[in-house]
Amino acid sequence: MRTHVADHPLIAHKLTALRDARTDTPTFRRLADELVTLLAYEATRSVRTAPVDVQTPVAMARGVRLAMPRPLVVPILRAGLGMLDGMQRLLPTAEVGFLGMVRDEGTLLATTYATRLPDDLTGRQCYVLDPMLATGGTLVAAVRLLFDRGADDVTCICLLSSPEGLARMDEAFGDSGRSVAVVTAGLDERLNEHGYIVPGLGDAGDRLYGSAGHFE
Ligand code: URA
Repeated sequence: MRTHVADHPLIAHKLTALRDARTDTPTFRRLADELVTLLAYEATRSVRTAPVDVQTPVAMARGVRLAMPRPLVVPILRAGLGMLDGMQRLLPTAEVGFLGMVRDEGTLLATTYATRLPDDLTGRQCYVLDPMLATGGTLVAAVRLLFDRGADDVTCICLLSSPEGLARMDEAFGDSGRSVAVVTAGLDERLNEHGYIVPGLGDAGDRLYGSAGHFE
């Protein structure tokens, strides 16, 4: 499994503002959106292309366009939805599927409550959007589901990751021979006893959508 932790002053600046407990919901949403677009640039480094010739006003030029089948972008509801616009800005022709997953705050286990994806993902490159790679339970289940449908390359874009979450992903896919990557704006210290990333940014869904937080 490939892990890329962004190393760019603009990403670090925006991530710091995102973490700040005083950042209000509209600002949080805008910052998350901007961060995703910056991360998407790195995450799509290996997006498949096909050669194409174009006629410029002057001469023919050799170029590329995105290969078929189109990439599939999969936000994990609900918080991943706050990352969709930022991703689509860079990949406007990608198809979008949806996965609704919720984490039981007691057991920290993920369950799937909604799936809106093509049945056959053979040969597809997929980009999973989930702001917080915490225990890794949700992301492992989501990536497995995409591979079960035939996807052959999955890149996860996460605003923040924990060492525990990355280890769990590596345990699940490291030796699997599958092409899996995690691209993240930051790698934090650890998880707390509630499965929250420390120092983190709190509950990403609550901060994106303005619900009252329940984190400590
Ligand atoms: N989900 C969140 O929104 N925040 C965390 O820190 C962990 C999981």
